[in-house]
Amino acid sequence: MTVSGTETTFCDRCGRPRTDGAHDTCGRARLLEPPRFCTTCRRRLIVQVTPTEWTARCSEHGVTTS
Ligand SMILES: [Zn+2]
Ligand SMILES: [Zn+2]
Repeated sequence: MTVSGTETTFCDRCGRPRTDGAHDTCGRARLLEPPRFCTTCRRRLIVQVTPTEWTARCSEHGVTTS
């Protein structure tokens, strides 16, 4: 695997770098839960959950929806 550029992305559940260890359990949990961290800046997301969907907002990078 080749890493292109210098940008590091983070796990949206545990907030660790994607390259830091395995995130299998995170991936499974993310099927059921909204994300907690921005994958770009690692800020904590502001998450709003409704019965039908979730919205996760980074103050820097905007909104992610389910
Ligand atoms: Zn993770
Ligand atoms: Zn962000």
